[in-house]
Amino acid sequence: MTLIDRYAVFGCPIRHSKSPRIHQMFAEQTGQLLQYNAQEVPSEQFPAAVARFFAEGGKGLNCTVPLKELAWAYADKKTERAHTAKAVNTLALQADGSILGDNTDGIGLVTDLMSNHGISLAGSRILILGAGGASRGIIAPLLEQSPQAIVIANRTVDKAINLAAEFHYKGPITGCGFSDLKNQCVDLILNATSTSLSGQLPPLPEALLAKNGVCYDLAYSNEPTVFVRWGLVNYALKSLDGLGMLVEQAAEAFFIWRGIRPKTRPVIELLNAERKI
Ligand code: NDP
Repeated sequence: MTLIDRYAVFGCPIRHSKSPRIHQMFAEQTGQLLQYNAQEVPSEQFPAAVARFFAEGGKGLNCTVPLKELAWAYADKKTERAHTAKAVNTLALQADGSILGDNTDGIGLVTDLMSNHGISLAGSRILILGAGGASRGIIAPLLEQSPQAIVIANRTVDKAINLAAEFHYKGPITGCGFSDLKNQCVDLILNATSTSLSGQLPPLPEALLAKNGVCYDLAYSNEPTVFVRWGLVNYALKSLDGLGMLVEQAAEAFFIWRGIRPKTRPVIELLNAERKI
């Protein structure tokens, strides 16, 4: 009997997740036999749920809101990018039984912005809204593209300031609260808060986005998110959601687990076509 390799995404909430669908498409495209489920796991149950998953033969996990920092703490070993981010979205069982933690969010975002949407990051002024697990994963890969400056704004201001201080050695980055954005003007706004999941929007001043600026919500939805709509109303050249990032970060996780890189374009096109119906 052939046992199918099992993978899953843990998060809370998780019902909206398209990850099972994406990994199924990757598996079909590459001829890999595997199963991938979504499981609702609140923070307090995370360590026990992960231990059970791997004890029962699971091979790899994705971890999403609000579990990325817990996943970082859980991993026995970390890749350099996960170590830097102090947040993990991919756990992989190793041959020696240990659990490797990686973070594929940053490469997923940068690939979607630059390769899929042709957005140049060099010399740009970037604002990141939110200072949670997703922000941690994207800061270093964004700084590696030599932006003019990155500002992190967060509801809990200390978290933004501390996060910026952590990455200061990698490039020009500062932290502040939403009320400090009044006189700022930026080329790219990345919404890495979880507000879109509840249909809310952080308080943003009207003149924040520069002419030809771009808005990008890391969250994704079948309907335009509140932040994507804010971008459209505020004359963004492009106002995008995180579906492309989701597919790109998933492809990187798939590569870590299976050693084979799936094509992302057909998957993004299919998921985009489905939500237009
Ligand atoms: P976390 O729970 O780690 O962080 C949540 C962040 O949102 C914190 O900065 C928090 O601020 C802020 N926040 C929550 N509620 C509010 C509110 N009402 N007003 C203002 N700020 C608020 O989540 P993650 O960082 O893991 O995920 C953030 C988002 O990114 C989610 O929507 C997630 O789906 C998306 N994401 C998408 C990916 C993709 O592939 N497309 C990949 C990764 C994430 P505070 O610190 O004050 O609590």
